[in-house]
Amino acid sequence: MSSDAAGLLRRAVVDGWAVGLFAHVNPDSDTLGSALALGLALRATGADVVVSFDAAPFRVPDGLAFLPGQDLLKAPRELPADLDLVVTLDAAAPHMLGALAAPMAAAPHTLVVDHHRSGADFGQVRLVDPDAPSTSTVVLELLDRLGLPLDADVATALYAGLATDTGSFRQATTSPAAHRAAARLVEAGADPTVIGWSVWGIHRFGYVGLLGDVLGRARLSATGAVADAGEGGGHALAWTWITGADLARHGLRLEHVEGVVDVLWGVLEADLAAVAKQLPDGGWTVSLRSRGPVDVGAVAMALGGGGHREKAGFSARRDGTGEPGGGAVAAVTDGVGETVDEAASASKIIDRILDQVSGRDGRRGRLSAAQGRQA
Ligand code: MN
Repeated sequence: MSSDAAGLLRRAVVDGWAVGLFAHVNPDSDTLGSALALGLALRATGADVVVSFDAAPFRVPDGLAFLPGQDLLKAPRELPADLDLVVTLDAAAPHMLGALAAPMAAAPHTLVVDHHRSGADFGQVRLVDPDAPSTSTVVLELLDRLGLPLDADVATALYAGLATDTGSFRQATTSPAAHRAAARLVEAGADPTVIGWSVWGIHRFGYVGLLGDVLGRARLSATGAVADAGEGGGHALAWTWITGADLARHGLRLEHVEGVVDVLWGVLEADLAAVAKQLPDGGWTVSLRSRGPVDVGAVAMALGGGGHREKAGFSARRDGTGEPGGGAVAAVTDGVGETVDEAASASKIIDRILDQVSGRDGRRGRLSAAQGRQA
């Protein structure tokens, strides 16, 4: 399978194919870094290559502006109509490509490069390694197989994906192979300090104010009684929600608040974290994290989303009566813009998550909070 991937790319270069490298919607540095790195390496061989992802308006999120190779980017509507080969990077299913699922379906040759364990079976050739810490390390191996050199730009884009998908080298994905790949990329010119800050640490001042608001109303919920959660009786979830009004009040967009869930991820009394973020249409996009035995990728998949064991997400549509009509019609109940409808709606989403967690919780206990008390 993997030799097919290299063979396909060799053919693309030799035969002068028009190649489109597609990242998934709401791009992070693994999907976009992988696409840009592969794009830079292929272009250096003379290949005809463009990189794209679906976003309206088409713009690279602030946090990814440091990634090299952005002159390869084309908006979906600017793509050549006759791409010979489409390669997807870090997309677990066609719907993760958004509007780019159509040009992929129309392409005569397709290649899927990914590391999601729960991925859909799509694409003619699949280079998928569920044990790889990031899609970018799968790309690194592909470049090795193609005999393409690493320069500082390619290494930077690949390292960014690796740093993101290992949670800055602290998640369970941080294997010896992850560190070996990191060492190679740093030797090739990736700067861990610059990339580390770019990926995890730099935020607007408005974000600090938003953190004050949304962390101030964070809650702890448990699959059993909260009192039992730390005693091996279940799981506890630290959660909050972010409304459109919160974003507007602090001058932020959804792309700026990806890190909120990571603060809750470290809550001692919880082994799970979730943040529900309100979408412009009144629905929600939900980020999930696990620091214990619960596979939030499986939880998210059961709720229509996907991801990895420790990091995952799903979307919840606005549904039913009494659901939020958006910040504009909901009554403000306190100084930080919390609204009754939005709190209730987020709470329902959390209940669905907890139902999933208890439903698949064959074994009991092993809660991080309990371990923390012994420490
Ligand atoms: Mn990834």
